[in-house]
Parts: sequence; structure tokens; C-alpha cells
Amino acid sequence: MSFSANIEKLKPSATIAVSTLAKSLAAEGRDIVNLSAGEPDFDTPLFIADAAVQGIKSGHTRYTPPAGLPELRRAIAAHLGQRSGREIDWQGVVVSAGVKQALFNAFFSLCGPGDEVLVAAPYWTTYPDLVLLARAEPVTVFGAESNSFKVVPSDLERVVSDNTRGLVLNTPCNPTGAVYSLEELKILSAWAKERELWILSDEIYRNVYFGAEDYAAPGILDLPEEEVSNVILVDGASKSYAMTGWRVGYSYSSVEVAQKFTALQSQITSNTATPSQVAAIEAFSNIEAASSAINEMGSAFLRRRDLVVALMDRLLPDVPYLRPEGAFYLYFRVDGFFEGGEGDATAWCSRLLQEQGVALVPGGAFGDDRWVRLSFSASDALIEDAFERIAAMVEAKTII
Ligand code: PLP
Repeated sequence: MSFSANIEKLKPSATIAVSTLAKSLAAEGRDIVNLSAGEPDFDTPLFIADAAVQGIKSGHTRYTPPAGLPELRRAIAAHLGQRSGREIDWQGVVVSAGVKQALFNAFFSLCGPGDEVLVAAPYWTTYPDLVLLARAEPVTVFGAESNSFKVVPSDLERVVSDNTRGLVLNTPCNPTGAVYSLEELKILSAWAKERELWILSDEIYRNVYFGAEDYAAPGILDLPEEEVSNVILVDGASKSYAMTGWRVGYSYSSVEVAQKFTALQSQITSNTATPSQVAAIEAFSNIEAASSAINEMGSAFLRRRDLVVALMDRLLPDVPYLRPEGAFYLYFRVDGFFEGGEGDATAWCSRLLQEQGVALVPGGAFGDDRWVRLSFSASDALIEDAFERIAAMVEAKTII
């Protein structure tokens, strides 16, 4: 069978591949500590699950408009408006089957052959692949390691060209845990506006932030409207409300852009599953219950962030790492363990999985295979166990 050029460069998601392998080893009876997962280890809060059950029982089982139930789009707009203090037009909201679909809509609609998209790196593994699916070119750009890899205009200046159409940011960042301050977002936004580029800001970890009492990180919509470039915000219910399997994400953009995303979606998936939308209405509009769920999960992630930092300092004292300010990942460097400077994190992670039964994601999935990502979305006991096993392999001087 021959395949089309559309999928010539397509690879399966590297992060999903590792966690699938770890799950299958565990199913075979191996003692595996899986810290590769990119999802909260909490169940969806009951008030949300109950709303879905009620919805199904009361007949919310048919198609909805492709951009989502107007009630959900309005609830999301109200939520964004309340958080940013800005007027948010609900018709700019398009509900998708997860942020992944919102990202596909954006890249497929906004770029194509001959176009380039700047992707701040280390990046979440899916961005470059989705840009490639649109047959455009992803151009990865790293900020300084001393700035937790966050990009600044001088980094972008090195790679911008006449073909550049937009910039992808992710804050809080998967895999680094870095968070852009409002001032940093303002500077980047001014840079993009001057060059007439759009900014796609993926804020899916917005509610997992360790620098504010309500666990809410700064976001691009917090900037006054006249200061921001054309923005496509993407966010969703997966991480904030522990709803990864429900597949509810959304984009917020100008209404003109939202209409294009809606047309695309209407030809591909129609709408996000209706019971999931009914559940999401409850998540986005029952502010009191939602804040209490976010606080409960946020305080657990904060405690675990402190735990992984303490374990790094105690058990792997010479290993460079970034202190996570948000999300639930610890990003650390393992090239110090490569023999004579040769090797890669992919081989190191596979040795760790084989010898010690610990699953981490190699940094190759995020653009730099000298680093690895450890997810601390797991119990304290599992995290401690994993660190002891990692330290045991390092102490045994198992060099690849
Ligand atoms: N964006 C980032 C940065 C992520 O880490 C993930 C999932 O891991 C997603 C988007 C996808 O989220 P969703 O479940 O809404 O498709």
C-alpha cells in the first residue's frame, strides 16, 4: 500500500508510546513504576461525573452544533472573562475533542506548504508533528537553559523569516515546568504583533501553578486586548478537572478564526461527545466546586513538587534539573551518565525501564535527547520508590 505525502513525516506520539509500553510490561506482571504519564492521577470530581450521568439520563445523547453546546461555549467564555477581566465573545470559543483537536484545527487552518511556525522548545511532542501534518515547517527555538529555556525576542530573531506565520508557546510548560510571567508574555506578544504573527498559547496546565494561592498561572488573555497579537488560546478540561478521557478542549480566538475551525471540525468529527460537554458545563460553571477540586489537586501537586526537588537534591545531587514552577513534570539532564559523552536519553530510559522498572520519557520527544521527563502525577510512595531505583542505577555506575 502506498501512502500520501500528507502523512509522510507522521510519527506516533512518543509520550504515548512510552506509557503504553510501561502499562503492557506491568500487565505482564513486571514491577513497574510508571512516571511517564501525562495525566492527573485523580478521578474526575464527582460533581462533574454526576452531571454527565444526569445528562445521559435526561436525553443529552444527540449531536450538538459542531462548535459545541452554546451553553458550554458561554460557560467557557464567562470563565475566561472572569479570570482575565476582559470581555470574551462566546462565539470565539470552539469546543473540541481535547486540546489536541484544537491544535490540529489551528495549524491546519493557519499554515500550509511554504509556511514556518516557531515552536518554543523543549516543546510538547505533538506540536511539530501537527505542523508537519499541515505540510508546514516547524522551526524549533530554545531559550537559554539559565532562563529555564523560556524564549525571549532575541532567541526568536535568530530564526524568524519572511515565511514565519506564528509562534507556539506553552505555559506552564510540558516538559520543563517553566511558567512565563505576565511581563514576559507582554514582551513576546509585542514582538509577534510587530511582525504580524499569530501566537498560539497552550495553557492547558494553567491551573497547576505553584506561584499563586489559587494555583492559577498568568495567561495571555490577562494582557489588555490592544497589546496582544492575534491570539489563539487553547485550554481544556483534561488537566484542570482530571478529565483526560472525556476529551474536552477548546480554543478561543477571533470569531472569524473560530468560524474556520468550526467548519473544519464539522467535516471531521462533528462535535465532542455530548455527555462530555454536559459534564464540562458543570466543570466550567460550578465555580465553588471547581475551585475546591483545583485546590485539592493543586496542593497535592505542590507537595509532590517539593518532594521531587528534595529527592533530586538528596539522591542525585550532581544532576542538573529545572525547578518546576507549574505542571507536574520534572525535567532533568542525564548526559552526565553517557559514556565518554556518547549516548542518548532514549537508550538511558530504556536501560532504566529494563533494569529498574522505572518508566520516564526521554527528552528526544521534546527536542533534546540529553534530558528526561519525570511525571510527578503519582503517589509520594511511588515517587520515592522511583528515585531510589534511579539512584541505584546511577550508583551502580550503569553506563550506556
Ligand atoms: N497540551 C499539552 C502541553 C499537553 O501536555 C497535553 C497532554 O498531555 C495536551 C495539550 C493535550 O490535551 P488534551 O487531553 O486536551 O488533548
